[in-house]
Amino acid sequence: MDASNDVKVAIVTGAGKGIGRAIALELSRVGYYVAVNFRTSREAAEETIKLIEKNGGQGEAQAFDVTDAGETKAALDDLFSRYKTIDVLVNNAGITKDGLFMMMPKDNWHQVVDTTLTGFYNVTKPVLRKMARRKHGSVVSISSIAGLIGNRGQANYSAAKAGLIGASRALAAEVAQMGIRVNVVAPGLIDTDMIKEVPLDGLKGMIPMGRVGQPEEVAKVVRFLCSDDASYITGQVISVNGGMK
Ligand code: NDP
Repeated sequence: MDASNDVKVAIVTGAGKGIGRAIALELSRVGYYVAVNFRTSREAAEETIKLIEKNGGQGEAQAFDVTDAGETKAALDDLFSRYKTIDVLVNNAGITKDGLFMMMPKDNWHQVVDTTLTGFYNVTKPVLRKMARRKHGSVVSISSIAGLIGNRGQANYSAAKAGLIGASRALAAEVAQMGIRVNVVAPGLIDTDMIKEVPLDGLKGMIPMGRVGQPEEVAKVVRFLCSDDASYITGQVISVNGGMK
């Protein structure tokens, strides 16, 4: 596809697997050309593209580490040079480095906060400038219930995910008049690699619905927030967590 094409374009960070892959697939199903970002999972990202194509959609895998400003800018500039608009950005990339705060190595603090918050800065700023030129766009960032209630053993992750909410609410107010909406989805426990080490049997009792969520259940909410059906929704946090509080 070339830049003369008026295709709708979505960027999803960390979209090789898990929730990001489900979001990429969901957006492609409603007609977006999807830039599937990955950092290490190249094969998984290529598999996401294959799944998109199998459903009749289109997209491309894009390698960049959201914490690396230079690498991120180069990849986004390349995309911007080929597409007139970026309609949707989903900040999904995230990591955990759990442990009690009093024992937490500095690196574990910085890596988690950097991925979520510096990653948000590095990707969202250039994309917003592109969206602002057309006075149109939607940004959705994936936070967590940890950012709302604080999870024991996740001070770094809870701080990062709460920060994402603060940044998104501030940004929503700044760009509302530019036709850009900024929202947050806060999942509870979702069945992905991120929770494969988590002992779920004990935790299911804390979920009123009694089960973990599926990535597709998050992706559908993201798709809604990106759509014109959500045209009057901005600066909001939508929980997708089976009723957890
Ligand atoms: P996964 O571990 O399956 O996926 C995380 C994704 O983030 C991977 O695709 C990974 O890419 C990407 N990523 C990590 N660091 C970077 C980076 N520096 N640059 C680019 N991409 C990066 O987990 P989930 O799918 O579960 O997580 C998706 C999001 O949902 C995260 O933000 C997570 O915090 C959030 N979340 C998840 C919950 C859950 O229960 N699963 C609950 C609440 C929130 P790669 O593999 O290429 O390195």
